[in-house]
Amino acid sequence: MTAQLIDGKAIAQQVREEVAAKVSERTAGGKSKPTLATVLVGDRVDSATYVASKQKACAELGMGSISHNLSADISQEDLEKLIKSLNDDMSVHGILVQLPLPAHLNEERVLQLISIEKDVDGFSPINIGRLAQKGREPLFVPCTPYGCIYLLEKAGVKIEGANAVVLGRSNIVGMPAALLLIGKNATVTVCHSRTQDLPGVVRQVDILIAAIGKSEMVRGDWIKPGAAVIDVGINSKPDATRKSGYRLVGDVCFDEAKEVAGFITPVPGGVGPMTIAMLMRNTYRAAEIQDP
Ligand code: NAP
Repeated sequence: MTAQLIDGKAIAQQVREEVAAKVSERTAGGKSKPTLATVLVGDRVDSATYVASKQKACAELGMGSISHNLSADISQEDLEKLIKSLNDDMSVHGILVQLPLPAHLNEERVLQLISIEKDVDGFSPINIGRLAQKGREPLFVPCTPYGCIYLLEKAGVKIEGANAVVLGRSNIVGMPAALLLIGKNATVTVCHSRTQDLPGVVRQVDILIAAIGKSEMVRGDWIKPGAAVIDVGINSKPDATRKSGYRLVGDVCFDEAKEVAGFITPVPGGVGPMTIAMLMRNTYRAAEIQDP
């Protein structure tokens, strides 16, 4: 292996310890406990697991959490009523609506309703708009892309002046990751399902963030020697040697890429743990903004 492994699990643990220390200092000083309200609609097992780990992280870091688990057939009106009541609730600092919502609900309207000071996922149009504008600062940066940039910086990868590719243009990962890289003065190409000659484009760049949701699609010979590779993908691959019958792999073929890249994140143990760590950071920040 030539690449240096970027250990997301260890870096996320450091972030969590820093947040826990700040929370403890804050509450010891008599200020309110940073508190996250989670909103889960329906019974998707993956969404329920994500929400449970976010609540567990709150408890581990000394923060509060309130959960609203709603039936899949809740009306748009009732969901919006709940968001408005959470906006008005002084004991709630952050609001997290677990996505995706069931198809009959208008996700855009729900996200738009979250007060900008409580938008700890960073998905409100105002936060994303600020991220896209030169000289403006969002109150919160979306957690997964925030984690990707944090990992690059912690590993000592130079972003300023680098050529970067982001594979994927989703609202939650690809697009905000590209905006963050531009904000850090990288020159960025965003690729998607209609991009021509992906390997040729990826081969040009010093930094690759892959977020497409396709098992091991990025091969070793796509990578420029020495490049930094951040693999956001979480895909399950059949594996008869595992009790579960599958294992998790990224969007990058790790075994090939690690022989060419300069830096690489593993899956699991790379970007995944950073998402929750950054959510905890944002929730602490939300409490500091609302109850300084
Ligand atoms: P998404 O909403 O499905 O978006 C996928 C993006 O990839 C789209 O922009 C799509 O292009 C592009 N794409 C799909 N197939 C492609 C192909 N063959 N060639 C080039 N581009 C292609 O996915 P997402 O929510 O961003 O998630 C991406 C991956 O990250 C998934 O594996 C997900 O599980 C993982 N994820 C991980 C975390 C974490 O915490 N680690 C958090 C979120 C997501 P079009 O726009 O043209 O359709």
